Amino acid sequence: MYKFLNRFVLSLLVGTCFVGVNGLSAHMAEAKTTFVTIGTGGITGVYYPTGGAIAKIINDRQDTLGIKATAEATGASVFNINAVGTGDLDFGIAQADRQYQAYEGLSEWSGKPVKDLRAMFSLAPEMVTLVVAEDSGIKKIEDVKGKVINIGNPGSGNRQNAIDIFDAIKIDYKKDFRAEGIKAADAPRMMQDSRIDGFFYTVGHPNGNIKEATAGLRKARIISIPEIPALLESFPYYSVGYIDMASYPEATNAAEGKIPTVSMKATLVTNAAVSEEVVYNVTKAVFESIEELKALHPALADLTKEGMLEGLTAPLHPGSERYYREVGLIKD
Ligand code: GLU
Repeated sequence: MYKFLNRFVLSLLVGTCFVGVNGLSAHMAEAKTTFVTIGTGGITGVYYPTGGAIAKIINDRQDTLGIKATAEATGASVFNINAVGTGDLDFGIAQADRQYQAYEGLSEWSGKPVKDLRAMFSLAPEMVTLVVAEDSGIKKIEDVKGKVINIGNPGSGNRQNAIDIFDAIKIDYKKDFRAEGIKAADAPRMMQDSRIDGFFYTVGHPNGNIKEATAGLRKARIISIPEIPALLESFPYYSVGYIDMASYPEATNAAEGKIPTVSMKATLVTNAAVSEEVVYNVTKAVFESIEELKALHPALADLTKEGMLEGLTAPLHPGSERYYREVGLIKD
């Protein structure tokens, strides 16, 4: 209700300005603008620039679409899903595994599934990234025992990824090391200040956060998380992915080439209550601008239209589905 009022007041204000300046026809056009918000993540991750890129694509077409979008920095996947669920955000970026859990009522959503959650499309792949200080002595994931490791804030997607991995390799994150719960955006500085030995971040590559963490005075490396059969068997949404170390030339193990780890896709989600027209228009604008989107951030460079329909487990929003059927991305 508050949000609705807020929007109403906003359109009135915008409308009023335009009556004064441009007369009634401009007022009519402006009054139809729908304001939408996109929940992203910390500003040094990939969600934030991706949300910004989607907002730019929408806003560049504001005259024809009648939609004005704003991308907001947030605590990431879990926060975004919850805010989309309550209607506080219209759109949110969330890891594919978290989309699945939220809709099915698992993990943080145990007993309280977000049944209004709707899938739109997926974005870049994300990798579980464990960065550690070289002087911590950590060379493989098991070496975290006795150390101080940030597994992420409760609103993040990465927190549960770290917990799942430790469960699979029988390390107790509550006992065997000190697990911190700070935001990914703060972790590189905390590591440089020697307040933590390392941190987990599930994120697309390259990104500013891991660059910051590996380019400081305190030398750092990225730890591989080799294929863990127990993890891949229990959780179908996890797969094996690779971090290209060419993106982080200052990491002490930059010469290792491609480092294996756990991977999943980032996705864009919305609420069933967001109108079919708005979701259709946003989906169409993004798909028609895929080349622009790919150019806006290097982590998005490998996007394909077909690939953007993978990793979606909540029901497709009818607005997105309408577009996919129209262009033949969904047949039958
Ligand atoms: N995957 C992270 C999370 O949901 C966010 C990554 C990013 O912001 O790029 O916690």
